[in-house]
Amino acid sequence: MQNEQMTVPPFEGHDLNKTDIFGPVSLLESPDDKGDLHIHLNGAVPARTVLQILAEEGTDIMPGFNPEQDLVRRSPCSSLGEYLRPWELLRRLPKRKQNLQRLVSSAVGELHSQGLRFVELRSSVLYLASLQGCSSTEALHHLIACIDHAAKPYGMQWGLIMTVTRGDYSAVQLDSLLSAYNSLGRPKEIVGIDLAGNEDIPYPIDLPRLFRKAKDDFGLGVTIHAGETGRSENVRTAVELFAADRIGHGTAAGGDPWLMEILAKEDVCVEVCPISNRLTGALPPEIAHPLCDFYEHGVPFVICSDNPAIHERGLIEDHKAALAEGLPASAIVEQYATAKRYSFIRGLS
Ligand SMILES: [Zn+2]
Repeated sequence: MQNEQMTVPPFEGHDLNKTDIFGPVSLLESPDDKGDLHIHLNGAVPARTVLQILAEEGTDIMPGFNPEQDLVRRSPCSSLGEYLRPWELLRRLPKRKQNLQRLVSSAVGELHSQGLRFVELRSSVLYLASLQGCSSTEALHHLIACIDHAAKPYGMQWGLIMTVTRGDYSAVQLDSLLSAYNSLGRPKEIVGIDLAGNEDIPYPIDLPRLFRKAKDDFGLGVTIHAGETGRSENVRTAVELFAADRIGHGTAAGGDPWLMEILAKEDVCVEVCPISNRLTGALPPEIAHPLCDFYEHGVPFVICSDNPAIHERGLIEDHKAALAEGLPASAIVEQYATAKRYSFIRGLS
């Protein structure tokens, strides 16, 4: 992850370095008081740590994959598939149990350097169980212990969101994750569940009911990746069927006044990831980011960094990107309080 002193290459048509004219630079450069509600844990691990662990574990690298280049995404990709390329490698580590601590500590250290006082990390967890040859309960227990160990020295408050991937096995994945959660006595560190993955892929018809049940039975927050790649109906489904408390990305809702009214009325918060939305190609340079639409229609939103290590840019840069997209500086000032309000972590101080 870069710090704010490093040169950030502008997106075409969106000069991130232009943002000084929008407001108090000191605010943007302040390392203090930030919260991030949408970070994928393995997208927050600096490439240097990934490379060290790969070498140490002797992991095979796919032909044609150049880790020095393909682990990061600095400029807009032609497709979501191209953007997701780093995960072809990231899902192969860590194989050794002790390396999970290294990986988590490295990620949390970088997040601390961005001034994050609280963070919600998300992980699909189950891949760790298969990599490390342990049960999903053991993998979840170990992951919680690693994050706790990494966050404690910084006094960083944190919560873990368990991610389910869209597809035929979504309901089975959710069941495994919830079984592990129950086996561990429903640890307070687990604060929510998430649905992620290719939005064009169908999921079992029963999945929304199972999400609602987990929310009702255990008080877990529900966040759904929806409307990232143009499917506004997925945002509607997330609210109406999944009872989503928050929407990941939700960019497609920006062109739909009716949907924005629903989000505002139902107080569903959109996790807006400005840099990610440009890098994935979800929003081409000639299309305005819907952030200002959300602001004008009273849709609650929090600015998040999604995969800061993959972008080599953290939340400070996402705030700058939001200003470059036209968001008033006053809205950035409110971000810490908004993130606190919509966080699934209870008792944030
Ligand atoms: Zn995401």
